[in-house]
Amino acid sequence: MSYAEPIGPQAILDLKKRYLIPCVYHFYKDPPQIVRGQGAHVFDSSGRRYLDLYAGVSVHALGHCHPELTDAICRQVKTLQHTSTIYLTEPIVLLAAALAQVLPAGISKTFFCASGTEANEGAALLATLYTGRSSFLALENGLHGRTKLGMSLTGLQMWRTDPNPVAGIAFVPAPHCRRCPFSKSYGSCAMACVEAVDAAVRATSGGPPAAMFVEPVQGNGGIMVPPPEYFPRLREVLDRHGVLLVADEVQTGFGRTGRLFAMDHWNVRPDIVTGGKALGGGTPIGFFSTSDRIASSYTRPGASTFGGNPVTAAAGLKFLEVLCRDGLVERSARLGAMLKERLAKSAERFKAVFEIRGMGLMIGVEIVAGDAQASAAAADRALEAMKDAGYLLGKTGPGRNVLTFMPPLIVGEPDLLGAVDAFEKILGTL
Ligand code: PMP
Repeated sequence: MSYAEPIGPQAILDLKKRYLIPCVYHFYKDPPQIVRGQGAHVFDSSGRRYLDLYAGVSVHALGHCHPELTDAICRQVKTLQHTSTIYLTEPIVLLAAALAQVLPAGISKTFFCASGTEANEGAALLATLYTGRSSFLALENGLHGRTKLGMSLTGLQMWRTDPNPVAGIAFVPAPHCRRCPFSKSYGSCAMACVEAVDAAVRATSGGPPAAMFVEPVQGNGGIMVPPPEYFPRLREVLDRHGVLLVADEVQTGFGRTGRLFAMDHWNVRPDIVTGGKALGGGTPIGFFSTSDRIASSYTRPGASTFGGNPVTAAAGLKFLEVLCRDGLVERSARLGAMLKERLAKSAERFKAVFEIRGMGLMIGVEIVAGDAQASAAAADRALEAMKDAGYLLGKTGPGRNVLTFMPPLIVGEPDLLGAVDAFEKILGTL
């Protein structure tokens, strides 16, 4: 088989059907074969160019094939690719030190692994070792991974495939002020969503849970931003009961929401931060980080074959250097605010738009039909039409009706405005 010429979408679909487990799903009825990426754009096998507004699901913060990142990876690949952590290498410790500079204050010890799912698995283990307890709390519509435990911590029904999930995990409703799960109105609700956590902690049999898992902004849950009081109040409740707070920043970390970590928006310090995606610059990565005190409970040997390998660690180091040097976190905040404002104007004009949500360059547009009913069909039509116009959006939400703008943080302003113009034309046809 030759890889010189693209085999084309139909051949890929045929091979996929024959050789991949059917759960590996894809977007679009008529999907393109992506063969090349450059900056904020990708190219298909026919040479067509698309603006990548999903960034490989919040991965390519620096854009595709960033020259400095690519150089750093190639240099490391040609020098030393892999040893495992049983031998001493330099990039892993340099990356851990660089990460400690950007993580919330007091969070300075890290374990590297190979995916966000594994990071959350590790965080759950660490919380158990530290507290001596093994039940957990999580938010409805959250997503934390696809392994047995990661999926069991996931509250989003679409991604809870396991008919027999791990026991001892309770879910509480996530805040959603436009559609309050407690039928209250923001301002007079007495933060019923936080009170529900207090009640759930008290109701846990065998003492309080070890930890509560949250995404600061729920990504797959539909780009859900909580009201400003939510996390500070949640922190108080958890502290009162000695429950650790695990912030899953796999999707929101490294500037995606306009701050280095999304929890920084509320000045809330988690006990454990998990991450992955963007830090590897396209190479597989995951990590969990914590305080000295909590880290000291994990002393028995632990290892991840590929965690912190020289290539990924070199990529992570270069990624952090460029992210900070080029002011991309601030850029995400500035461009995201502009994008949100532009989209909010569309929301006033088009009945199909229920709400614009998000922070920084993590913006969701909820698509509805009729009487504000989630419309996955209308969202799909818009997703396809945007692709045909040269723009790749994301799609999330429990109703699969939230279109997401999560472009590389280096995306050009005119490109982004072009995408909004195209989107508005399509909204008019829904
Ligand atoms: N947590 C969150 C918030 C995610 O968005 C994802 C992936 N979309 C994961 C965990 C799992 O990460 P991975 O696919 O790298 O295992």
